[in-house]
Amino acid sequence: MRVLLVEDDPMIGESLAQSLRAAAYAVDWVQDGQAAQLALSTQTYGLMLLDLGLPKVDGMEILRSVRARDDAVPVLVITARDTVEDRISGLDHGADDYVLKPFEMSELLARMRAVIRRKGGASGPLFTNGHMTLDPVSKEVIVEGSRTILSAKEFALLHALMVRPGAILSRAELEDRLYGWNQEVESNAVEFLIHAIRKKLGSDSIKNVRGMGWMVSKKL
Ligand code: CA
Repeated sequence: MRVLLVEDDPMIGESLAQSLRAAAYAVDWVQDGQAAQLALSTQTYGLMLLDLGLPKVDGMEILRSVRARDDAVPVLVITARDTVEDRISGLDHGADDYVLKPFEMSELLARMRAVIRRKGGASGPLFTNGHMTLDPVSKEVIVEGSRTILSAKEFALLHALMVRPGAILSRAELEDRLYGWNQEVESNAVEFLIHAIRKKLGSDSIKNVRGMGWMVSKKL
């Protein structure tokens, strides 16, 4: 999943971007409000992590304009503004959750998963399709009771397909979800990942639709 990180503090931004990438998110990091608006107008994100005190355009203003144009991107506000009024105002303006600095990375990741889950309309923390279940916390795939651990990128790819079983994603769409700006993408990276997943989970775990892309078949 691709995440827009809006944070002007270079130390916090750098360490957040690193931790998010280690957790298999593709991250675009911008350091002011104007760059955030530009990114939002050119790219679709699965989630935005938004600092409020920002140069050029304030975080609350970004939130307001995102919701004013009916952009449903999940927004998690990360900020040092800790008054109750600020928190209420953020939630009133369409933030999905709020994390106060300083925070534990594990808590932020858990809240991100919760927000993504709520927005995705899934009831539980697991994605299930037929006999295959994906656990976003342990990064495991459970097939008929046996668990297989995937690498971060393998998990991110399978997750992208499992969110909507039956939907075909092209190579470009998959790369878009797996890699952020400044990340070199090898031309056959997607094929390599799919090959690795099929080796672990069986050749029919991911279907190739010739000339269009890949999908996981929708199963009851
Ligand atoms: Ca700030």
